Amino acid sequence: MSSLPLVFAAPKRALPPRHLADLDLDGRRAAVAELGHSAFRADQLSRQYFARFERDASAMTDLPGVARQVLGESLFPPLLTEVRHLDTDNGDTRKTLYRLHDGTLVESVLMRYPDRITICVSSQAGCGMACPFCATGQGGLKRNLSTAEIVDQVVAAAATCARGELPGGPGRLSNVVFMGMGEPLANYPRVLASLRRLIDEPPAGLGLSQRSITLSTVGLVPAIDKLTAEDLNVTLAISLHAPDDELRNTLVPVNTRWNVAEVLGAADRYAARSGRRYSIEYAMIRDVNDHAWRADMLGEMLSTRLAHVNLIPLNPTPGSEWDASDKHVEREFLRRLQARGVSATVRDTRGREIAGACGQLAASEN
Ligand code: SAH
Repeated sequence: MSSLPLVFAAPKRALPPRHLADLDLDGRRAAVAELGHSAFRADQLSRQYFARFERDASAMTDLPGVARQVLGESLFPPLLTEVRHLDTDNGDTRKTLYRLHDGTLVESVLMRYPDRITICVSSQAGCGMACPFCATGQGGLKRNLSTAEIVDQVVAAAATCARGELPGGPGRLSNVVFMGMGEPLANYPRVLASLRRLIDEPPAGLGLSQRSITLSTVGLVPAIDKLTAEDLNVTLAISLHAPDDELRNTLVPVNTRWNVAEVLGAADRYAARSGRRYSIEYAMIRDVNDHAWRADMLGEMLSTRLAHVNLIPLNPTPGSEWDASDKHVEREFLRRLQARGVSATVRDTRGREIAGACGQLAASEN
C-alpha cells in the first residue's frame, strides 16, 4: 500500500502460481475461456472448491477428463502442503503446519466450540510489526500470502470439519479470524480479496456471514480507513495492549507512527460506518500493562465508544522475560473496566500446549 512506510513492505519474494481462489467468478470464467473451455466450467470448478471443499482437481469427477486435467493443472496448483498437525483439548483444537510452494512455512489453528467452529488463519508468513511479546514478530516478515493461500487455509479447514475429522462428527466451519501469523492490513489487497471469497455466496465463494469473520490489526490507520470505505461489516479487532502512548510505543512499535488516539479514531469511523462494535485486544502482562490506573484510563477512553475489550492472558513465547498477570490482578482490571460501563471479557485461550495460542505461531519444523 502506497501510504505505508517502506519499512512495512514485504520483501520481494515470489507469490505462488495463480489459483482459482485468486480470481472472482468473472475472472475464473475468463481464465477458463482462455484455456479453450466453456465458461460454465468455471462455475463447476467453483462449486467443487467452495461448496464441496474439493481442493484436488483430479477428484472433480463431474468434469470430463481432459477439462479436469487442463483446468486442474492451470487453476489448482497445490498451494498448501500439510507438514503435520498437532491436536489438543481432546481434539477440539488443531494446529496445522503448512509448507508453501517456495518452502515458506505457515500455521493455522482450528477450534471447535459447542456453538461454532473457528479457523484462525495466517495472512503473511512471519510478521513485520515486531511486537516484542509475540513469537511471530521475532522472525520478521518473510512474505505476504496470496489471496488463494489465505482462502485455501479456510477451505482445508472446512473440509476437515465436513469430513468429520474432528471429534463430535461432521460439522460446518462457521467462523474465520485473521489472528494467525502476520498483519492482515499490511497485505491489504490480498486480504481484502480473501474476505470477498469468504463472504460471496457459492459458487463465487464460501458464503460465510460477515459477522462471523474477525480481522485483527495492530492499527494501520490508513488501511483501517480504506477498509471502512469498502462498506463491509466484518468484525474489526484492534491490538491495543496499552492505553498510553508511552507504553504502547514499546509493546506495539507501529504506535510511534499511529498513536492510540489515532487508532481508536479510525476504529470509531469503522464502527460508525459498519454499525459493528469493534474489539480491543489487551494481553495481560504482569507488572507491564496490568496496573489499576491503566484499567481506569482504558475504561475512561472506551466508556463512550462502541467497543468490547478482550483481555488475553499472556501466552508464553520463547525467550520472553514476561509473564501473564496474576488472576486476581486480571479480575480487578476487568472489574474496573466494567465499572465504567465498558463491555469486557477474558478470552478463553486455546492451544497453549501446542504453541497454537495467540502470539505463539512461529511455524518451525522442530
Ligand atoms: N497482527 C495482527 C493479527 C495477529 S492477532 C494483530 O496484531 O492484531 C494475534 C493477537 O494475539 C494480537 O492481538 C496480538 O497482539 C496477540 N498476542 C501476541 N502475542 C501474544 C502473547 N504472547 N500472548 C497473548 N496474546 C498475544
